[in-house]
Amino acid sequence: QSNLLLENLNSEIEKHGLSDKVKASITGCFGFCEKGPIVKVFPEDVFYVEVTPDDAAELVKSHLVDGHKLERLLYEEPTIKEKVNTQHEMEFYKKQERIALRNCGLINPELIEEYIANRGYEALGRCISEMTPEEVIEEVKLSGLRGRGGGGFPTGLKWEFTRRPKSEVKYVVCNADEGDPGAFMDRSILEGDPHSIIEAMAINGYAVGAQKGFVYIRAEYPLAISRLKTALNQARESGLLGKNIMGTDFSFDIEIKYGAGAFVCGEETALIHSIEGSRGEPTTKPPFPAESGLWEKPTSVNNVETFANVPSIILNGASWFNKIGSETSKGTKVFALAGKINNVGLVEVPMGITLREIIYEIGGGIKDGKAFKAVQTGGPSGGCITADQLDVAIDYESLSSIGSMMGSGGMIVIDEDNCIVDIAKFYLEFTVEESCGKCTPCRVGNKRLYEMLTKITEGKATIEDLDAMKNLAETIKMTSLCGLGQTAPNPVLSTMNFFYDEYLAHVQDKT
Ligand code: SF4
Repeated sequence: QSNLLLENLNSEIEKHGLSDKVKASITGCFGFCEKGPIVKVFPEDVFYVEVTPDDAAELVKSHLVDGHKLERLLYEEPTIKEKVNTQHEMEFYKKQERIALRNCGLINPELIEEYIANRGYEALGRCISEMTPEEVIEEVKLSGLRGRGGGGFPTGLKWEFTRRPKSEVKYVVCNADEGDPGAFMDRSILEGDPHSIIEAMAINGYAVGAQKGFVYIRAEYPLAISRLKTALNQARESGLLGKNIMGTDFSFDIEIKYGAGAFVCGEETALIHSIEGSRGEPTTKPPFPAESGLWEKPTSVNNVETFANVPSIILNGASWFNKIGSETSKGTKVFALAGKINNVGLVEVPMGITLREIIYEIGGGIKDGKAFKAVQTGGPSGGCITADQLDVAIDYESLSSIGSMMGSGGMIVIDEDNCIVDIAKFYLEFTVEESCGKCTPCRVGNKRLYEMLTKITEGKATIEDLDAMKNLAETIKMTSLCGLGQTAPNPVLSTMNFFYDEYLAHVQDKT
């Protein structure tokens, strides 16, 4: 559909003799998935939604030839029931702040010229010609950037730990093994702005003393892979990757490694084993990858979104980044909004914003005017947040203090029609499927937990079963080897905590 739309737009532009003035081009995701495909006209910022290939002729004639906006395709803001002309007037975008997604919906991700025209590779140039590796690390440390893959570990500190050990060989790894149900943040960044990841990985390589990087990406992301490959070739041809980058003595190159879709391979030690060609199973830490990672060499593993922030931090300075966000969580976070919400899509918001602002202002509220019940953040590792907690400011600490977690950024909204026990069962089924089977609490315990939940949903459980289930969930959390098992019971525990009545409604003896 999108390719045909692009073709039709360009052929209409040519038909009207406008090819020397206007060109239709692809971009990455605008984030407003609910109303795609989107056509945005630059420089006016006019935003057309739900455009089909058949609309191309009328759109070009009206907007470009006659100089009138095509009213029919403009977005109608539901709250005011009026059409809005530009992207910046839309409620969906008003509270967003785009740093990681800065080029998505702006540049053609298949053209390095467009990335460079938007200050692309300027940060890398500045690092390798004007800054020492220690200064680069210091800048990232001062920015307050923390890992966006879920852990929230300070990025600059991780880079410092990788720089410290004396080793001829070190590695940089980009974790693009996005696996949470409903999450598509990393995929969108790689599809919409692959050069920003390449640039950030090279900066990381320079800072820690590595010459080789790997992007570990799900094989199920064919468009992201193809755009990444195109970008890697363009960067090599332009002297921005490979030997003696920009004529300096810094050399760095990147290889793509494909993940076969195992959720556990998002855990960094499992990911490292998978790149090495071994079975993707986690191992205990320490040693941490920063000391002994890929082939036992110091390795800096960072997530896609974390990397996407780095060039802007170098260009604008740590103090600029540091001013955005909350006291303990700096910058922005990308969330994938899904479930029973009007504006399903991808949003980037400053840390410290409330869930209410995200769900009701950016997300446009709950579908069909239903009542909000809960939102699941952090995917299968996270927990449910209830209506009473909608005004909590979102950052790493506040989410974990209410029993959920930031996770990688999946946000699934649940309304009054959803059974909360079914939701917990859905997530647990996912983690049972994805357990690598290495340790008993996760392999066997989560299966038993799932069987208990099934018994509850079938109305065959008693109150004693609820107590036993809680005990088992807590034991699994305490005794599993890696994050997958340690967090798998979270959806059960948090829903039991906040919606115990719903569990009670399922059991036989409610006394
Ligand atoms: Fe594997 Fe689960 Fe144990 Fe992690 S917790 S090592 S996924 S069995």
